Amino acid sequence: MTPLPCEVGILGGGQLALMLAESLNRLTTDIVVLDAFTESPYSVRREGAIRGWVDEPAALEAFFARARVATYDTENISPEPLVPWAHRLLPSLEILKICQDRIQEKAFINTSGFPTVAYRSVGPGEDLRAAAADFGFPAIAKTARGGYDGLGQHRLRDASDARWLPERPAEAWVLEEVFAIETELSCIVARDSKTTANFPVIENLHQNHILDVSLIPARIAQDIQREALAIANGLARALALRGLLTVEFFWGTGRDGIRKLVVNELAPRVHNSGHLTRQACDLSQFDALSRILVGAPLHAPTVLPGCWGMGQMLGEIWIAQGKSGAALDLRAWAGFPDVVDVYLYGKREARPERKMGHFVVRGNALEVVEAQIHAFRDALRSTR
Ligand code: ADP
Ligand code: MG
Repeated sequence: MTPLPCEVGILGGGQLALMLAESLNRLTTDIVVLDAFTESPYSVRREGAIRGWVDEPAALEAFFARARVATYDTENISPEPLVPWAHRLLPSLEILKICQDRIQEKAFINTSGFPTVAYRSVGPGEDLRAAAADFGFPAIAKTARGGYDGLGQHRLRDASDARWLPERPAEAWVLEEVFAIETELSCIVARDSKTTANFPVIENLHQNHILDVSLIPARIAQDIQREALAIANGLARALALRGLLTVEFFWGTGRDGIRKLVVNELAPRVHNSGHLTRQACDLSQFDALSRILVGAPLHAPTVLPGCWGMGQMLGEIWIAQGKSGAALDLRAWAGFPDVVDVYLYGKREARPERKMGHFVVRGNALEVVEAQIHAFRDALRSTR
C-alpha cells in the first residue's frame, strides 16, 4: 500500500502532539498543528503551528485548508465547529463526542455489553447534593466534561463532604462508587480498515488521581489480561474505530462485594500510559497512529526483552530544584544507567501537579524498575 499524499493535522500542541509529530515526521514532513498556546511543548520546540483553537473560524479554516486528515491530542474539544470537517477526523467525531462526556461514555460502554463502576448521572440544574445522598457514600463526584488528571473530581467520604459540591450546578456531573482498586490497567488499540493491533496491557499506578508510574508487563494474571484485551477490542469494534483508542481499567472490588474488571474511561488518542511504548515496543503508540494517519500498513507491536517502567515528572521536582520551569538539572542521571530515556516537555512554568516530563527505565525485574523510578526521582529532587 502506498502512503496517501496527505498533509496530516494535529489539533493541540501538548506533549502528546509533540511525540506524535516526531513519529509522523519519519513518514511525512507535511504536518500542520493547531495550537492555542505559544508556550506549549510543540510550539516551544517547533515553528509553524497555526495559532488558535477550534472556536476561531479563521484558524480552523487555515488548519483544514492544509490537513487532509487530522487527529487530536485531547478530547476536551468542542465538537460543533468540527462538524464540516468530520470526514477528515481520525478517530471520528462521533467517537470524540462519546469520549468527552463521562455519562455518554459510560452509557456507551454498558450498552456495548461491558462493565463500568456503578454510577449515577446528574443533569444540569439538578440537586447534586441530594443526588449524592441518594446514591450513597463513599462516592466520587466528577464533572461529566472537561476533567483530566483528577481535575473536577471530589471524593465524598460521607454526607458532610457533599457540602463541597455545588448545589445545582449548570453542567452535568456523575457520581461513582469508590471502587476498591487493586490494579489499574490500560490497553491501547490501534485499528485501521484491515488490522487491529494491540499494545501489551500496561499497569498504571496513580498518586492523587494523577498517573505516576506505568509498567510493562502488567503484574496481573494472564486471564485478566486477556479479558482486558477482549474488552478493548470489543469497544474498538463497537465504536467502528479507525485510529487509536486507549481503554483504562480497574481491577478490584465494587461496592457489591464482587471482584471484577471494569472499564474506567476511554481516550480516543495516544495516552500518557503509552509513553513507554517508545522504548519498550518495536512500534510505539505514536508510530501506530502515524501509520494510520498516512495510510501505511499497521503491524501488531512486539515487546522488547526486559521489564519497562515510565516515571512521570511533575512540577514539584522543578520546584525542589529551585527551578521555575523548562530546564532541569539532570546530573543525577549519571548514577542511573537503567534510565534509558528522559523526555522533558519544555513547559516554561512549573506547578506542583503539572506534568513536566517523564523518563523510562529498563531492568530485569519490575520490582527493581519500580524502585529505580522512585530513586531517580528522589535524586532529581535533591539535586541542588
Ligand atoms: P482523569 O480523566 O482525570 O484521568 P479518571 O476518572 O481516570 O479521571 O480518574 C483518575 C484516577 O482517579 C483513576 O485512574 C483512579 O486512580 C482514581 N479514580 C477515579 N475514579 C475512581 C473510582 N470510581 N473509584 C476509585 N478510584 C477512582
Ligand atoms: Mg483517567
